[in-house]
Amino acid sequence: MKSVLVHSCCAHCAAYTAGYWQEQGYQVGALWYNPNIHPYTEHQHRLGAMKALAAEIDLPLNIDGGYDVIEYFRRVAGQEQEPERCRHCFRLRLAKTAEIARQTGFSGFTTTLLISPHQKHDLIKETGEEVGREAGVEFLYADLRKRYSDSRHITKGMNLYRQQYCGCLYSEWERYSDTANSAR
Ligand code: SF4
Repeated sequence: MKSVLVHSCCAHCAAYTAGYWQEQGYQVGALWYNPNIHPYTEHQHRLGAMKALAAEIDLPLNIDGGYDVIEYFRRVAGQEQEPERCRHCFRLRLAKTAEIARQTGFSGFTTTLLISPHQKHDLIKETGEEVGREAGVEFLYADLRKRYSDSRHITKGMNLYRQQYCGCLYSEWERYSDTANSAR
């Protein structure tokens, strides 16, 4: 049976995405690996929501033990502006997903990032295809952006933690500070 490991950035994007790939005939597993989420307490809140969703919809969830925050900051050092830092961020997370998919016998991998209209969609696709080629695992692409609100509708009644910014410290600053753009 064909199978897909779904890199999951948050419960609210995973809800529809997991079901979508099941409907396409895939055996679906989810992977949590998001060292781009800062600070650590925020990471734990989002992980808690993801665990609750996985239990609710009976989704096998692999939680990678590494919170590679040092690696994240090393990669983006000197390239903190968009889209460069996001390219490194996507590559870190998707390369890990491709590697774990290969090691654990999944025939393909993908990411819930593809459902978000707030993300750099084309860059995610490009990066996914690139790391898939390098790892020898197929990157499964679907443009699910039109289903973003459907995904949030699924989690609406579950009382799950809902984040207010993309993930990294830079995105939190940009979200809340009037000075973020003028300072760059
Ligand atoms: S804005 Fe989002 S995608 Fe870009 S580097 Fe920060 S966490 Fe990663």
